[in-house]
Amino acid sequence: MGRIIVITSGKGGVGKTTTSANLGMALARQQKSVALIDADFGLRNLDLLLGLENRVVYTAIDVLSGHCRLDQALVRDKRQNQLVLLPAAQSRTKEAITAEQMRQLAAALTKKFDYVLIDCPAGIEGGFRNAIAPAQEAIIVTTPEIAAVRDADRVIGLLEANRLHNTQLILNRLRPAMVKANDMMSVSDVQEILSIPLLGIVPEDEKVIVSTNKGEPLVLAESLSLAGQAYVNIARRMGGETVEFLDLNGESNGMFAKLKRLLTRKL
Ligand code: ADP
Ligand code: MG
Repeated sequence: MGRIIVITSGKGGVGKTTTSANLGMALARQQKSVALIDADFGLRNLDLLLGLENRVVYTAIDVLSGHCRLDQALVRDKRQNQLVLLPAAQSRTKEAITAEQMRQLAAALTKKFDYVLIDCPAGIEGGFRNAIAPAQEAIIVTTPEIAAVRDADRVIGLLEANRLHNTQLILNRLRPAMVKANDMMSVSDVQEILSIPLLGIVPEDEKVIVSTNKGEPLVLAESLSLAGQAYVNIARRMGGETVEFLDLNGESNGMFAKLKRLLTRKL
C-alpha cells in the first residue's frame, strides 16, 4: 500500500501545484511509482505544469460517473513512466465530487502506487475537505508572508481536527537576502509559529516560471537550479534519507519577534 499525502496550504498561490509536480517527478526519478491527483477542480493546472495537458482525455469525474475506468483516466508521463496524473475536470464546480469519492479514488491508487500525492485547492471549504479526506500525511506549503503563515496555521489545526497529525512543512519562495535585511521572515521565524517538522526550504527562483511555461518540472533540468535541488532533496527526505538543508538560512535579528508574539497569541 502506498503513502497518501496531501499537499495543502490554505492560501492560494503559494506553490502547492509547483510542489506537487516537482515532488511527483523527483520521486518517480528515484524509482518510486507515483500517482498525482489534481484535486483542484475549479482551477486545475497540474497537467500544464507537467506538460501533459494535451494528453488529458478523461478526468476523475468520468471515472466516478462510470464513463471510463480509472486506468483509462490516468495520464502517464512522457518522460517518466512511473508517474501518472489523474486530472481534475475543469468545467464542473468544486462540489462535483464528495469526500467519500475522493477516498475511493485514492484507495484504488494506493494499491498500485508507492505514492499518491494530492494537489489541494486553495481555501478550507469543500474542495479542501475532499482533498484531505483520504490523506494519511500532509505537506503544508507556505511562503514567508504573514497571510500565508496564518492560513497555514489554521490549516494545521483543521488537519489535526481531522485526525491528520503527520504534517510537515515546506517553506517556499524564501529570499535569503531579504531575510538578512530583516525584510522577510526567516525559516526559524516561520517554524516557531507553526511548530511542525521542516521537510524543506525552496528558494525564490525565476526558473520556476520558465519551467511552468515549458511544462517541465525543475527537477528534470540537467543542471539543477537551487529550487530544483531543493525539491530533489525533499523527495529524498520523504524516502527516509537524511539530507542537509540548503544553506539559505539568512537569520533575522528579531524584527519579527513582536509580530510573532502577536500572531502566536491570536492563533
Ligand atoms: P498554488 O498551487 O499554491 O496556487 P502555484 O504552484 O500555482 O501555487 O504557484 C503560484 C505562482 O508562484 C506560480 O506563478 C509559480 O510559478 C510561482 N512560484 C511558486 N514557487 C516559486 C518559487 N520558488 N520561485 C518563484 N516563483 C514561484
Ligand atoms: Mg494549485
